[in-house]
Amino acid sequence: MNNETLMQYFEWYLPNDGLWWKRCAAKAKNLSALGVTQVWLPPAYKGTSQEDVGYGVYDMYDLGEFDQKGTVRTKYGTKKEYLKAIQAFHDADIRVIADIVLNHRMGGDETETVTAVTDNPENRNEQIGEKQKIRTHSRFTFPGRKGKYSTFTWDHTCFTGTDWDEKTKTNQQIYRFTGKQWAEQTDSENGNYDYLMGLDVDVSNPVVVRETKRWLRWYIRTTGIDGLRLDAVKHISFPFYRDLLKDIRKKTAMELPAVGEYWSSDPGKLLGYLDAVDNEMSLFDVSLHYNFFNASQAGADFDLRTIFDNTLIKERPQNAVTFVDNHDTQYGQSLQSFVADWFRPHCYALILLRHEGLPCVFYSDYYGNPVKDRPSVLDLGKLMKLRRYYAYGEQKDYFDDPHLIGWVRCGDEEHEGSGLAVTLSNGEGGIKRMFMGKEHAGKTFADVLGNCSEAVVIDKRGWGKFSCEPGRVSVWVQSEAFENLVVNE
Ligand code: CA
Repeated sequence: MNNETLMQYFEWYLPNDGLWWKRCAAKAKNLSALGVTQVWLPPAYKGTSQEDVGYGVYDMYDLGEFDQKGTVRTKYGTKKEYLKAIQAFHDADIRVIADIVLNHRMGGDETETVTAVTDNPENRNEQIGEKQKIRTHSRFTFPGRKGKYSTFTWDHTCFTGTDWDEKTKTNQQIYRFTGKQWAEQTDSENGNYDYLMGLDVDVSNPVVVRETKRWLRWYIRTTGIDGLRLDAVKHISFPFYRDLLKDIRKKTAMELPAVGEYWSSDPGKLLGYLDAVDNEMSLFDVSLHYNFFNASQAGADFDLRTIFDNTLIKERPQNAVTFVDNHDTQYGQSLQSFVADWFRPHCYALILLRHEGLPCVFYSDYYGNPVKDRPSVLDLGKLMKLRRYYAYGEQKDYFDDPHLIGWVRCGDEEHEGSGLAVTLSNGEGGIKRMFMGKEHAGKTFADVLGNCSEAVVIDKRGWGKFSCEPGRVSVWVQSEAFENLVVNE
């Protein structure tokens, strides 16, 4: 078995030139050579406008095929190009993870007059306003699609509430439609965090659930996607995805791996959600991301021995997708908590070179970000290849010094030349004595990241003395391995 690596293959500030799917197809082989086995692509369906990143969902049956919202293509291209990109990834043995946004809809075609009450935005369990009539864009008839693939149209009965009244043109309120309740099991922030934005989809309405299941089967059949990334799960009634995933896997007989975005730094909340959905999905390890962020801010004041404390990867590694940053935490975005540059190679070593979890590499970390003038993460390509070829076998941790930690992977027989040692510092650096295994006795290891120049010879009992420069990370492999680690863009 080779190690799996997921890559988030988009970021927030991509140009709206309709060429993204073509660029994906062109890069598939290179990504495979880096060890990427799964890519997470942005939402592929029509949003409220051509430049929509994909989360302002308008029509999920329009993958860049119909003239709607002033455009046939999406920001990323046409349906045909999307399907070609998926094929290119499959040809390169890469599975495609599709971004699924079911919490809300935007850009309705017609308005309706609806009776609604207002709830306290800070505590949505508290009603603060009496019944009133508001005008809302809650009718979705998709005139450009004309009923192709599905004749289903949406109206206010499909939604629980909204934040926009067309009569007064205000969005300072949270309107809950008469007769509707926020879902019982959601995140408890703001009292009840069912409502996020736009028109909140009412998944307690069986008609909505039936149509959503139908859409998902259509989407999988049409595109050949292999897995799901589930947006904003803390804002959707918890049992909904549990039941949806069980249902779709049964009906398609597919493995259909799924990873949810539950944005909370509290591992207790992540575990509570996983329990509620019967562990039918993994979650992004947001708690680990915040440990990375905090450690990068604190510098030498952070105790590296605690880097995995209070995280999903520690508590339930089999359900953890680890990451350093993403399109929401990147510069200029709503959840900005961007890990400082000096610590980013450390973080990638911590997610890529260990046994636990599925690591997710962020597009902008690999390529850099010209719009935000961000550099790429130093040696990220090498770290990805290290994962692919050498990070195998038993793992031994040396988390015994607050400012200098290390671990080894002893290697296995299946992967020639495998086995590596990592040293990682946020302070003065130093030397770590670590056990590589007797089978490595007499072999020479060197730092492939080039931070330490002196090679290490493993002694006859299997131990090596691996050094680390102040505030740096070093990855030690057998010198013969170096030629496999050259990265071609
Ligand atoms: Ca919701």
